[in-house]
Amino acid sequence: MGRKNRRDRQQPKPVALGSSQWTEAGPRGEWTVRRLRGNDKAYVCPGCNQTIPAWTGHVVAWREDSLIASDGRRHWHTPCWQRSAHRR
Ligand SMILES: [Zn+2]
Repeated sequence: MGRKNRRDRQQPKPVALGSSQWTEAGPRGEWTVRRLRGNDKAYVCPGCNQTIPAWTGHVVAWREDSLIASDGRRHWHTPCWQRSAHRR
């Protein structure tokens, strides 16, 4: 007996929003990239034209200089974005 389930009060770390978004400069200009954990929507990846299923981690990227930022957003599979970003 006496086996106590000792619980240290651990505070869950708040998700640092700033660290999941970054800027990448490439041959096609400067893109802002944000890592997403996925939501209930499926998207079509412009890199491979395949569906990104709902609840799948992926990235969304848009041009900083795009006038209509929300219009220029594209959802990519993470590997597809990395391939595309380094392609000239
Ligand atoms: Zn893809």
